[in-house]
Amino acid sequence: MNVALSVSALRLAFVFIAAAMVAVPTLAADEAHNGVQGMYVLNCGESRTTDLSMWSPGFNIGKTWEFSDNCYLIKHDKGWMLWDTGMSDGIAKMPEGMKAAGGLLTLRVTKTLASQLNEIGVAPTDITRLAISHFHGDHCGNANLFTAATLYIQEREYEAAFGPDPAKFNFAPNFYEKLRANPVVKLNGDYDVFGDGSVVILSTPGHTPGHQSLLVRLPKTGAVVLSGDMVHFEENWVNRRVPARNFNREQSLQSMEKVAAILSEKNAQLWINHDKTQSDRIPKAPELVE
Ligand SMILES: [Zn+2]
Repeated sequence: MNVALSVSALRLAFVFIAAAMVAVPTLAADEAHNGVQGMYVLNCGESRTTDLSMWSPGFNIGKTWEFSDNCYLIKHDKGWMLWDTGMSDGIAKMPEGMKAAGGLLTLRVTKTLASQLNEIGVAPTDITRLAISHFHGDHCGNANLFTAATLYIQEREYEAAFGPDPAKFNFAPNFYEKLRANPVVKLNGDYDVFGDGSVVILSTPGHTPGHQSLLVRLPKTGAVVLSGDMVHFEENWVNRRVPARNFNREQSLQSMEKVAAILSEKNAQLWINHDKTQSDRIPKAPELVE
């Protein structure tokens, strides 16, 4: 009897301890139901410039520089989501690469996005959610492959990309015109894609009118923010430098401050898409980053 009593008491105590553990105040409800299983980082091209100062006015004049270009495929319980589609796979057939930015950049694709998806067993039509940081050709180059996906885009970017004068924003509709027929969710600010806080689109205008970045909570790595072109390389981030060609300098600076606050609040890492030194350290598909 005494033994039974103490077992009950012990059980009761355990229930209280368990209840106290569940009620940890710092664990937000969205973190408790994170449906992200992992993310594939895909090599979506590379580029080389002979004058880095175009991205850092007054600095790095005449400096040669290599940029990475990644796409990110998120594996969530509710389906596949692709963030950015990289440079056009068509560039892979050009032995000298393709010139861009008035000849200041040479783009190259060594491994097509289609072949990398095939290697991990994902068909383009399996991807049900697509978001693109912005509509420059090195981010939407393969967008036309993803006709089955719902497109998540800031309304201002949509108006620039699908409006009467996309060339004014340096957008080339031939890369993405098929998306006009996709289901579209037009956004005016941040957006929780799966409703569980695991993947959140962050409105970060400045580089283009409706530029966006992406917060992803990975199960083991933790929270990361995928930059898009909110910043192009580490040195620009540290010094808050804005490329000369950005659509709006003031918005660009505000977006950097917004992301800096989110990084510290969420204890998140910033993964800079075009920073080759950092990108080289991140495992690429077919390895899943958990
Ligand atoms: Zn870019």
